[in-house]
Amino acid sequence: MTTHPQSDHGGDVRLTGISKTYDNGFTAVRPLDLTVPQGSFFALLGASGCGKTTTLRMIAGLEEPTTGTVMLGDQDVTGLPPYKRPVNTVFQSYALFPHLDIYENVAFGLRRRGIKSVQKQVDDMLDLVQLGEHKRKKPHQLSGGQQQRVAVARALINHPKVLLLDEPLGALDLKLRRQMQLELKRIQTEVGITFIHVTHDQEEAMTMADTVAVMNQGRVEQLGAPTDLYENPGSTFVANFLGTSNFIEAEIAGRAGDDLTLRAGDGKLVLPGARCSTASTATGDKVLLGVRPEKISLTHADDASQIPDGRNRITGRIADSSFIGVSTQYVVDSPLCDAFEVYAQNIERDARLVPGAEVVLHWNPAHTFGLDAAQDAE
Ligand code: ATP
Repeated sequence: MTTHPQSDHGGDVRLTGISKTYDNGFTAVRPLDLTVPQGSFFALLGASGCGKTTTLRMIAGLEEPTTGTVMLGDQDVTGLPPYKRPVNTVFQSYALFPHLDIYENVAFGLRRRGIKSVQKQVDDMLDLVQLGEHKRKKPHQLSGGQQQRVAVARALINHPKVLLLDEPLGALDLKLRRQMQLELKRIQTEVGITFIHVTHDQEEAMTMADTVAVMNQGRVEQLGAPTDLYENPGSTFVANFLGTSNFIEAEIAGRAGDDLTLRAGDGKLVLPGARCSTASTATGDKVLLGVRPEKISLTHADDASQIPDGRNRITGRIADSSFIGVSTQYVVDSPLCDAFEVYAQNIERDARLVPGAEVVLHWNPAHTFGLDAAQDAE
């Protein structure tokens, strides 16, 4: 496999105080500071309308910021038109030239710059996206995933320092999208330049990116590595956006070393201090405890004595259960939570775990996270 080392990767992308208010007075992006480390695969993740495309377009130069600056390494590119920035963008619509074959589509950017001998570069680039054998085909003779790979090759041929990807996989079916996620990740690792990827799909962001910025209403709500965001969400918004969470409102009863002990109904609950992101942790303060469904075990109440010590535990009654292949999903009613969701994986099938059964939900306290109780968990 040919590699494509790039001598000058351009440095970090730094947005400082960047914001966008459109002519109609609508503020799509509130002043935000963001640093995208050079060579990283960075995802802007959020629901439709949260401002992620606007942010990307300001980096590309396709949208003029209302305030703030865009730096690429040491270069202030805020006032530069798109074609003068060392960045390129891949859009959801591949926008390939239908009358040109794949080779000429990829060669286009080089030829436009007046470069005569393009063969090695184009062949290398087609190798990179694994389309060498298709180079004489026209775009309509390729699958959606292959066409998107041509679009990526075409965007990389001029050696941009940053590749911007605006929902590039949005038009593909689910299976192809999953394949392309891994493919894009491999390409990014090989070329080594910064990729900034916009998506509303949390699984996509978590699969591909080193760092994810979760956006909400024009702001970056939280920034971090995927595992960190998933395990330590700083708000109910992030907790809910990156998967399903159960929430319990609890009161701090005291401390045991670095851990907080909590009161909530009959629940025996511990929250490791490091997993608590609330401002105040005095006795009597309220905390919203979160726990992911797959971290919870379910034991029939008759067997409760077999649950090891040191587990967080609450009681409930099974409201519903459904077998979903790798796991069984239980919905459990509890006075502490409107409806607990529990995904029990690889447990021996216990015939007593049917709707109506009394159960104990239990989990390792390390899998608990604590949030400000004033937040709306909906
Ligand atoms: P999507 O995934 O749907 O593209 P997004 O998070 O990328 O969403 P943006 O495209 O950045 O969101 O748009 C953010 C908000 O700004 C939206 O409410 C959108 O309607 C609004 N907006 C975008 N472009 C303009 C414009 N030219 N004039 C006025 N409002 C705009």
